[in-house]
Amino acid sequence: MPGICLVGLQWGDEGKGKVTDLLAGDVDVVVRYQGGNNAGHTVVVDGARYALHLIPTGILYPGCVPVIGNGVVINPQVLLEEMEALEARGVDVSRLRISGNAHLIMPYHLELDRVTERRLGKNRLGTTKRGIGPAYADKAARVGLRVQDLLDPKIFGEKLAVVLKEKNLVLTRVYGRLPFDAREISDAYLAYGERLRPYITDTAALVQHALDDGRTVLFEGAQATMLDLDHGTYPFVTSSNPVAGGACAGAGIGPRDIDRVIGVTKAYCTRVGSGPFPSEADPADAEVLVEAGGEYGTTTGRRRRTGWFDAVAARYAARLNALTELVVTKLDVLSAFERVKVCVAYTFEGRRYDGFPEHQTVFNKCTPIYEELPGWDADITGARRPEDLPAAARTYVEAVQELVGVPVTWASVGPGRDQIVRFRR
Ligand code: GDP
Repeated sequence: MPGICLVGLQWGDEGKGKVTDLLAGDVDVVVRYQGGNNAGHTVVVDGARYALHLIPTGILYPGCVPVIGNGVVINPQVLLEEMEALEARGVDVSRLRISGNAHLIMPYHLELDRVTERRLGKNRLGTTKRGIGPAYADKAARVGLRVQDLLDPKIFGEKLAVVLKEKNLVLTRVYGRLPFDAREISDAYLAYGERLRPYITDTAALVQHALDDGRTVLFEGAQATMLDLDHGTYPFVTSSNPVAGGACAGAGIGPRDIDRVIGVTKAYCTRVGSGPFPSEADPADAEVLVEAGGEYGTTTGRRRRTGWFDAVAARYAARLNALTELVVTKLDVLSAFERVKVCVAYTFEGRRYDGFPEHQTVFNKCTPIYEELPGWDADITGARRPEDLPAAARTYVEAVQELVGVPVTWASVGPGRDQIVRFRR
């Protein structure tokens, strides 16, 4: 089984980091295929907590080559800081490989992210203001600068001059901001390039060779399905394609290279930022979920919105990703409730929706139809086998499996590496 894709099924923060950690021992290469430093995986290894924003979790496993694929947008300053922070904690970063085709986040992207969000006012997207969206926009407009440009000062200078002329006009004339100085940007970025030079390579070839050799490659999605640029709740989405299909373009492989697609979902639901969220819990239950689940962003510290498991969205995500298996995380968090709700369908203007509504207006305005399941008044963080779980917790996992139509392989019952219940091999 050489190609495994790992995707979040909800709005991110499902605990994908923990699942990567579970797989890591058997994986030779871990590839990030989209997003930028707006992601955040939290991995707890030997009691030490690592929050990784840009570097794939594979960095923490000595036998594994971590790869930042061409589909990622990279802020080189942030990348170098993350590398330094890992080195300071004794993590060897020398195995890291970075695609020369990945696009760069430039200082004007950060500034444009800030000023456009401000201009949008109450219609703002709730971006992380890290320049990711503007960097992807420039990629599509074919005025982006790529990692490989850092290694050619002449080309870098020429491309920057062209694009900066337009950016500075927009920043000064439209937004009344100060212009950027090309020389300052060049000096800083070319210096970053020199430091990154040893890590830059043709990562698509690296990945293809690994697959040809029968090695196991994990394609690690950041953000999640409901934030997908094409299939998520547009415009409240990320500017790339986290769905499993995105791994093909973002890493340079074909669909047949992916043998397993693992979908990760929390036992409940959370989302950060603006946008529709049908199964959002009432304030009292939401508060319990936030506190029991520690629902604050890894990267931003923002309090997440919380709600009940949304089977309609999960089914949609299962289909979009062609899931082969399901992992349910944070089951322990639901131990706080006497009864647990699951959203099984939506209703809008007298019509019931079991499938994901085609029209966004329906998703925006629909009311969830809940089924209630009994809770389990027990600490399940010590469970390791299905039979260790209270019957009600097992029933809950089975209900999720049934509703989504994909077999559950693992349920996670705590943040630790060993806090996992294996349902099948
Ligand atoms: P990711 O981006 O999908 O990896 O998600 P995050 O890392 O942002 O969020 C996962 C958070 O939940 C981390 O703090 C994990 O340590 C924690 N976590 C993961 N699985 C579990 C679980 O089963 N139970 C609890 N209580 N916490 C978990």
